[in-house]
Amino acid sequence: MANTKTSKLGIALVGLGKYSGDQLAPGLKETEYCYLAGIVTGNPDKAAKWRKQYDVPENNIYSYSNFDDIKDNPDIDIVYIVLPNAMHHEFVIRAAKAGKHVICEKPMALTVEECDDMIAACTKANKMLSIGYRLHFEPHNMEMMRLGQKKIFGPIKKMFAEDGLAEVEGWRLSKALAGGGPLMDVGIYCVQGARYTSGLEPLAVTAREGIKKNKEKFKEVEESLTWQMEFPNGIVAECKTSYSEQLNLLRAEAENGWFELTTAYEYTGIEGETIQGKMKFPKVNQQAKQMDDFARAILDRRPTPVPGEMGRQDVKILNAIYKAMETGKRVTI
Ligand code: NDP
Repeated sequence: MANTKTSKLGIALVGLGKYSGDQLAPGLKETEYCYLAGIVTGNPDKAAKWRKQYDVPENNIYSYSNFDDIKDNPDIDIVYIVLPNAMHHEFVIRAAKAGKHVICEKPMALTVEECDDMIAACTKANKMLSIGYRLHFEPHNMEMMRLGQKKIFGPIKKMFAEDGLAEVEGWRLSKALAGGGPLMDVGIYCVQGARYTSGLEPLAVTAREGIKKNKEKFKEVEESLTWQMEFPNGIVAECKTSYSEQLNLLRAEAENGWFELTTAYEYTGIEGETIQGKMKFPKVNQQAKQMDDFARAILDRRPTPVPGEMGRQDVKILNAIYKAMETGKRVTI
């Protein structure tokens, strides 16, 4: 297969919600190696609107019930699952069985067993699986990886990671659909941040649920949560997530200096600084970079830097944090 712009891979977005509409579809207008070829939706009005807006051919529009027919559609190379968390498992497996490469949004699934099924289905189909970890393609976050993993300021001693939203609604408040509260949704970025800044894996976690200020709204999931991750060499990451407070931080303190992002996980406006001064990196379209990298990985037959195994490890850690929160005990990973 030639790696030219004329051999762009076709992506079908599954679930036309906020992230698909506001980020991924616009991102696909900036990609070089892939394009929006199809859509899968439960809403015929959205199908009609997207068909017009993005010039999607009628034959490339599916519902959740006829989705499996996508196997016969040569326009679709990659299926991108952008559904509520609890639906990722079913749809990744259906996409793999249809013989398509798959991108799955974070968190990959609710349990490690589900992640194993998803990885196995893609392996069996001989198709690639990646997770929508856009920050691996964002220059400030990539700089945190470089500074930490290459020990530019010496070995890391301590890390701080916080990600929270002031307001949420809908399926994110349902335990059945989301699998949990802010930890599943945005706290996962703290787990990711600590992992990619240090290049290490946590050995154990402790956690404490925050007091629920709105018991009715948060009757199924936590409103906020603080937790600690213990890494090798005595490194500790102090983390916090919330659905009622805006938080956005990734900071590392190393032997000879600190480095941090004070807006760490947003789509735009990421700000970083080290003990030596402000970071200066260009703005990028994270989603376009992420999807292009996956398309290139497929075309070049190389692994993706954000594979299903990475998503599985995060789900394992998230589940350990919930266990620590529920039992009040230190949980090893
Ligand atoms: P939305 O609620 O905005 O959209 C979800 C879409 O899923 C709906 O619009 C609907 O699409 C479809 N859907 C099918 N069944 C259901 C159901 N039972 N309840 C609700 N929706 C359903 O969610 P987001 O777009 O914000 O999130 C989708 C996924 O993307 C999540 O896993 C989330 O974690 C992830 N995400 C990742 C981000 C990132 O930065 N990487 C940012 C935001 C979200 P339709 O009407 O077309 O059927």
